[in-house]
Amino acid sequence: MIAAENLKSEARFTPLAERRNPSAPLFTLIELDPRDIIDGLLLDQGYATEDALPVGKMRETCPYCAGTPLQLVLKFRHVKRSHVFCSKCTRCFDALYPDGTSALMVNSVSTATAPPH
Ligand SMILES: [Zn+2]
Repeated sequence: MIAAENLKSEARFTPLAERRNPSAPLFTLIELDPRDIIDGLLLDQGYATEDALPVGKMRETCPYCAGTPLQLVLKFRHVKRSHVFCSKCTRCFDALYPDGTSALMVNSVSTATAPPH
């Protein structure tokens, strides 16, 4: 009986808050060539594109602009692939999980793995 009581007390409830653990590893950021991810024109003053609307801010900040949160831009129209974007220096990045897979390629993966009909 005593053993059973001990087991009961050790079955701890895991709080949901741990899913948003602030110490979880950040994504690894890989700088991308904007020509590969968005349609535009290469001009003398830089790469000119249509505006891509960011859908949200990331926890990650730009490695070049201290404290500037990166913005998530999804694949849509002239945007050829989802990426994160710094509004200050206009650099574009891919975000990788610790295992090296892209956190931003979810849409294309689900399309590629759609069951055959
Ligand atoms: Zn920046």
